[in-house]
Amino acid sequence: MLEKTGVPEPEQVKKITPSEERFQKGPVAVVECFQNIPCDPCRYACRQGAIKEFEDINDLPVIDHELCNGCGLCISECPGLAIFVIDATYGKEEGLIKLPYEYLPLPGQEEEVTGIDTEGQAVCGARVVKVQNTKALDRTPVVTLAVPRQHLMRVRSFVRKGGE
Ligand code: SF4
Ligand code: SF4
Repeated sequence: MLEKTGVPEPEQVKKITPSEERFQKGPVAVVECFQNIPCDPCRYACRQGAIKEFEDINDLPVIDHELCNGCGLCISECPGLAIFVIDATYGKEEGLIKLPYEYLPLPGQEEEVTGIDTEGQAVCGARVVKVQNTKALDRTPVVTLAVPRQHLMRVRSFVRKGGE
């Protein structure tokens, strides 16, 4: 399915999902990179050494979730837009997802949007908590969404009201 549609199988996602114990400790990166392609900037973006050294540039990234502090520096460095930072400790009902977002116009803070999954299907209502678009992000802005906790591992992008 992945090769044809770009959508990973649930089993693939399960393998790279941090443990519930790790989620309870605070923000953590989820690296949804499933294809062996010549690419490794995530490895060099991480100052915590959480993304292990690649033996070959075609390797899939391997992350040590215990070393990851959820800083999010790797998000905009990934040309595959495959890295997300999830904070399941944000609130009782809501958690946060930091995601790369390369569409214009950018949403505004507190804007209500619709969270969508990797297939582009609507998952839930979401709220824009923060928009980062500094020069250092090199034209890959990072948007932080608040979503219901049960959808933290499903929402991977969003559409604005009116379909943008
Ligand atoms: S979020 Fe920060 S600490 Fe975690 S893998 Fe990315 S760069 Fe490393
Ligand atoms: S930078 Fe992104 S696409 Fe490239 S290896 Fe790392 S996670 Fe995969």
